[in-house]
Amino acid sequence: MENRSLMAYDSNNIFAKILRGEAPCIKLYEDDLTLAFMDIMPQADGHVLVISKEAAETLLDLSEDGARACVVTTRRIAIAVKKALAAEGIFIAQMNGAAAGQTVPHIHFHVIPRTAGAVVRMHGVERADDAGLNAFAAKIRAALADA
Ligand code: 5GP
Repeated sequence: MENRSLMAYDSNNIFAKILRGEAPCIKLYEDDLTLAFMDIMPQADGHVLVISKEAAETLLDLSEDGARACVVTTRRIAIAVKKALAAEGIFIAQMNGAAAGQTVPHIHFHVIPRTAGAVVRMHGVERADDAGLNAFAAKIRAALADA
């Protein structure tokens, strides 16, 4: 992993542990530069996280190649989530720094399906059960395979 060191990177953060295989995740997609998996505290059903494999805390720390790869994977995941969940819209969010609401200090993009009028749950609060997460993951993987 490359670290551009604009900010000190904490390699003990949970996403770094997921990348090293030291913590589990419900994986949807992986390539040389990115990994996509289910958010365990989803703000809506089908909430996915796309992370870079670089040791970067924020988008500002990421290399341009890493940023490009994240956007390409985020777009690919967004298309699959929209199809899998029959979502009317897709909200994509990306926070940089605690002051901006970032709680995990490893660069990531949120992909959140939206339906008009549906309430979005609080950020990172309610742990979803694994059976439900796995069911949504199976639908998203099928949509990715169809793409
Ligand atoms: P942030 O607040 O940094 O923008 O987003 C962090 C996201 O990571 C939150 O949506 C939160 O639910 C999610 N999250 C926190 N811990 C874990 C974890 O251990 N596994 C997964 N899959 N997601 C996590």
